Amino acid sequence: MVLFDSPAFEQHEGVHAVYDAKSGLKCIIAVHSTARGPAAGGCRMWPYPDARAAQDDALKLSRAMSYKNAMADLDLGGGKSVIIGDSRTQKTPELFEALGRAVESLGGRYWAAEDVGVSPADLAHTRRRTRYVAGLDGHPAASGDPSPVTAEGVFRGIELCVQRAYGHGLSGVRVALQGVGHVGGLLADKLYAAGARLTISDVNQAAVHAVAERTAARIVAPGAIFDTECEVFAPCALGGAINADTLPRIKAPVIAGGANNQLADPAVGRAVFERGLIYAPDFVINGGGIINVAAEIRGIESGGAYDPAWVEGKLARLMQTLGEVLDRSEAERRPADEVAVEVARARIAA
Ligand code: NAD
Repeated sequence: MVLFDSPAFEQHEGVHAVYDAKSGLKCIIAVHSTARGPAAGGCRMWPYPDARAAQDDALKLSRAMSYKNAMADLDLGGGKSVIIGDSRTQKTPELFEALGRAVESLGGRYWAAEDVGVSPADLAHTRRRTRYVAGLDGHPAASGDPSPVTAEGVFRGIELCVQRAYGHGLSGVRVALQGVGHVGGLLADKLYAAGARLTISDVNQAAVHAVAERTAARIVAPGAIFDTECEVFAPCALGGAINADTLPRIKAPVIAGGANNQLADPAVGRAVFERGLIYAPDFVINGGGIINVAAEIRGIESGGAYDPAWVEGKLARLMQTLGEVLDRSEAERRPADEVAVEVARARIAA
């Protein structure tokens, strides 16, 4: 009963363990909810230490996709797939075709897209075996890399939070940005163009120097980013950046960034609130990427093309939702992440 007893199980509709002897694929596809539409969420490839760790990750990520898709007002449910393996050494076309067969066997209950360790080129192999895959290039509905839309949403979300905290725009505002990869790098460009002053960190030296060169950012060591004097802390690296150790060091009155699962646990969300900080719940502020993927799914389903105006409409609405969550958090004196989960659950239930 390991599965049903897992704290992350939380009423998943289906959890599918897939093994393909020929390609070596070991994969778990978790479908949390199809109440709002077919489940959609990325496929992650990661060298999990064991199947239990892979299962728990799939469950947590899939539930988070239900919340994210609901907050972005998409007709999509939440799902996620994880492949157990090392993306640097174990990728083959056969592996991703086997993933395609597994996705196809669910008959459209789950749409796959990219996530950590999986690229559009990998999913082109998946596409040979199923139509239920998005985030690709080279067809009329193709939406390509979701990162630019994610970064745009995070940028607007930071602007909104700064306006609430200080009553002015981003000019002269100091932002500490952790992680300058796909999302963080593009976000740095936007913040710089808006007049913000950046301090950045990344474990990837080449990336951090390239971004610093074009944005006049100050570079600090990865561990030092939490101690930076600033108005905004923007986590754009991996999950769990805000935890019992780092929170007391964060000096910014605003925490808003693109990373998934920024709070190590709900208790940290409460501590953020009790310190009086403005926190933009991650699964709200970073919903731009899935909106972009949803535009591709919409195009494939209707036989139409990718529609940037539809994406812009959803992104603008998402920012309104972020504002509403922060309003309620203030009025009801409750942590913003708690309010956001409640709103997402109500939307799913409705
Ligand atoms: P990425 O891998 O391109 O970038 C992550 C960066 O963080 C890398 O440059 C990496 O070197 C750096 N990093 C890792 N550990 C670090 C540390 N301890 N300190 C500083 N830097 C560190 O990934 P991405 O696509 O930019 O995604 C970033 C985050 O945003 C992830 O949490 C991802 O799940 C989330 N996210 C991404 C999208 C998207 O559209 N790409 C959408 C929603 C959420």
